Amino acid sequence: MLTAMTADLHLATLSNPTLIPKGRIGRFVYESEIGQGSVGIVYLFRDPMIGRKVAIKVLNPQLPANQRQLFEKHFIQEARAAGRLNHPNIVTVYDADKTGDLLFIVMEYLEGKELSEMLASGHQFSYKQIADIIGRIAQALDYAHENGVIHRDIKPANIFIVGNSTPKVLDFGIASASRQLSDADSTLGEDQVSERRLLGTPNYMSPEQAKSAVVDARTDIFSLGVMLYQLLCGQLPFKGKDVPGILHAITHDAAIPPQEIKSDVPLRLARIAAKALAKKPEDRYQRAADMARELNRFLEKERTDRIIAKIQNPDLAKASSDKDETIVKKTGFGTRQISYVVAGALAIALTLWFSLKPSAPKPSAMLPQTVQDAEVVAPSIETKLTEAVPAPRVVVEEPEIKPAAPDKKALAAAKLAAKVKAAPVIVKAEPAPIELGAIQIAVSPWGEVYVDGQSKGITPPLTKLSLPVGKHKIEIKNGDDNYVVTVDVNTEKEVKIAHRF
Ligand code: ATP
Repeated sequence: MLTAMTADLHLATLSNPTLIPKGRIGRFVYESEIGQGSVGIVYLFRDPMIGRKVAIKVLNPQLPANQRQLFEKHFIQEARAAGRLNHPNIVTVYDADKTGDLLFIVMEYLEGKELSEMLASGHQFSYKQIADIIGRIAQALDYAHENGVIHRDIKPANIFIVGNSTPKVLDFGIASASRQLSDADSTLGEDQVSERRLLGTPNYMSPEQAKSAVVDARTDIFSLGVMLYQLLCGQLPFKGKDVPGILHAITHDAAIPPQEIKSDVPLRLARIAAKALAKKPEDRYQRAADMARELNRFLEKERTDRIIAKIQNPDLAKASSDKDETIVKKTGFGTRQISYVVAGALAIALTLWFSLKPSAPKPSAMLPQTVQDAEVVAPSIETKLTEAVPAPRVVVEEPEIKPAAPDKKALAAAKLAAKVKAAPVIVKAEPAPIELGAIQIAVSPWGEVYVDGQSKGITPPLTKLSLPVGKHKIEIKNGDDNYVVTVDVNTEKEVKIAHRF
């Protein structure tokens, strides 16, 4: 704790707005100034005890007296909000203290760049990186929300990118406890309310924030949607000449579908952005974790598509990506082996799916995911999106595995595929996304689990199963006893089954 510390920080001059502390704050030794924000100045210090660098944010003592009280409040709020969070994608706050006039926060020193800076310098992220970055921020926000903290100012200037693409959420300065909160509801005076409102960046505000109405955690989901949109198509969804113009656009205008701005934007990502940008909070993802899950699905599908493409075109297999090489290094598996394993697994999964779900709709009928999702897309852009989105196609064909050169492993894999009767499925164009959900089984002391009549092994330790969305008969046997239940698996929520024999 710093409470007992003597802050022998020597400020160059209190009348100089660019304050440069020399010396120490407690045991921390000053190294350099990192940068200034609207309320504070961030410095790099070193902890000589453990040789660690830390970032110390000091509330600017030059702030006018009438604003100081408000900013002090935000500053303390930031320390409190971030201080109770411990997540790999949220900056870690180690401590905070006030000594004399000096109010400061000690936090993890991040090496990298603000996302806003990267965007301003024209940095281009791939769609996979975008999905990964936004997905991780969504997970961090979900964690903050679960811990009672709403950020309320999610924007690229508050996202720090460490290394190539690890995001860290910064600046919980206007975060609030996650009770529903409106600016009018605040204990602040009128002037302070409008000042506080301006602390949020208008372009990333949610409609409810723009109207100073009640906000909850879903306001962060909207702001994250703005960021996703911006990363996808290189421009903001809501623009205006001035602050009122921007606020009007946020509350009234429909965003142009991203693929109309950049034709190669993946539709799945465009749909995720559209849902996050719904004007009404109830039409958005209800939890940031739901948005993270959708982004992960996109990444998983990308991976599978790439592997299938490589199987179909063996020449591509030679040009393995960096990511594949990492997998090779980690697992000792070659890309080709992985392809066969994944192709086999995919084939088995599809065979199971068709054999377990006799009443399931045909692949082509299953696919209008677009239509399902369109129901939850922001009404304002729903029509445009559904018009623009062609229904994905699946072409099921006879096996056509043609290795480039005779290859024993390839032949063995082909034989194996034929054995499990999985070979009829070679997905040619867009493979049908099988919607999977999870069931969690807690059985005491143990049980043999059957799903729709097929044995899945013994639980525990088998506690979690991924199953296609829909109804499934789950039977758990323990000796002569058995427990049968029909569950409705969905993508939103894990279905829990608990039974004691
Ligand atoms: P605001 O104006 O909304 O308060 P800001 O991002 O402009 O926010 P600060 O959060 O005060 O300002 O940050 C000032 C500078 O210090 C920014 O360039 C920011 O990237 C950098 N910075 C902030 N925290 C850290 C950190 N933990 N490690 C490294 N740099 C940081």
